[in-house]
Amino acid sequence: MKKVNVAVVGATGLVGSTILKVMAERDFPVAELTLLASERSAGHQLAYRGDMLTVGNLAEASFDGIDIAFFAAGSGISRDHAPRAAQAGALVIDNSSMFRMAPDIPLVVPEVNGDDIPEKGIVANPNCSTIQCMAPLHALKPYGLKRVVYSTYQAVSGSGMKGLRDLDEHKQEFYPYPIQANVLPHIDSFREDGYTGEEHKMINETRKILHLPELPVTATTVRVPVRFGHCVSANVELENAFDLKELVDRLATHEGIVLMDDPAHNVYPMPTMAEGRDEVFVGRVRRDMSVNNGVNLWIVADNVRKGAATNAVQIALKALERMK
Ligand code: NAP
Repeated sequence: MKKVNVAVVGATGLVGSTILKVMAERDFPVAELTLLASERSAGHQLAYRGDMLTVGNLAEASFDGIDIAFFAAGSGISRDHAPRAAQAGALVIDNSSMFRMAPDIPLVVPEVNGDDIPEKGIVANPNCSTIQCMAPLHALKPYGLKRVVYSTYQAVSGSGMKGLRDLDEHKQEFYPYPIQANVLPHIDSFREDGYTGEEHKMINETRKILHLPELPVTATTVRVPVRFGHCVSANVELENAFDLKELVDRLATHEGIVLMDDPAHNVYPMPTMAEGRDEVFVGRVRRDMSVNNGVNLWIVADNVRKGAATNAVQIALKALERMK
């Protein structure tokens, strides 16, 4: 694979630093690596494969000569800087929600809609809780998806360093209530319709990634006092009758999924085992007896890895494969 010049915006953050980790693990073909963050972190040193690199100030940085630019510094930063990186010729892989629903910008989970990845411009990395549900729903797509009901149990690292600080240091600076020994049915801000921004993201992004713009989807998203690893209970109604064993086989053999489903031996996915892993874990697969063709799934993944950094690096690697 051709070596390329890479920039990571937000390199000091949770997602940015994990992008660097995943790139190193996957032997990403880097020619030159540029690390960027705010003025606060400019001048700090970060290690990449044994080399110490100095973090630059995004506000003063140029993207000339950059082939791939990962953005992981929030929506406002992406709004202000991602277009100039794309104009300079980089393929921008954006972790924020800024461009996800823009009609001309693809939203990609590589093992589901990798063909949507463009050669240049901006490609959006989906919301963390949505990403982990895409391979399982894609595996069930041959039966016809009729309706999806999500209930989530999301780790505090989904809020970045701020969320981890509230849990680890028993603070109440980021969340509106204590997160220790508590559960908050509130992720992102409330909208006029009573849903939160996170719930809207899960609904809209699911439809866009699966290319099913009319799919009925609803969601309740909840923050739990777990450091890493989101869990989603997905209730899925299908158009067609299914054989449960065949459906389970489809899940087990789909790219990116690890099936962990052996209730007799207490085998089911949990955040503690998903942490640090790149796959999506699925268990508790069972028929929904309340409808004709329904199934319940329990889906767990590391929100910072598959839910953000790993998916972003997979998009980049797929784009590079095409450029060969
Ligand atoms: P984080 O840990 O708080 O890191 C934020 C990063 O943005 C830091 O590197 C910070 O640099 C940088 N930054 C802040 N203000 C900046 C500015 N004015 N100019 C340049 N850089 C600036 O947050 P995170 O969790 O990594 O999230 C990053 C992005 O990924 C967000 O858009 C988030 O929504 C998205 N995301 C996060 C997750 C997750 O599970 N955490 C999952 C999916 C998507 P300094 O060190 O200089 O402050």
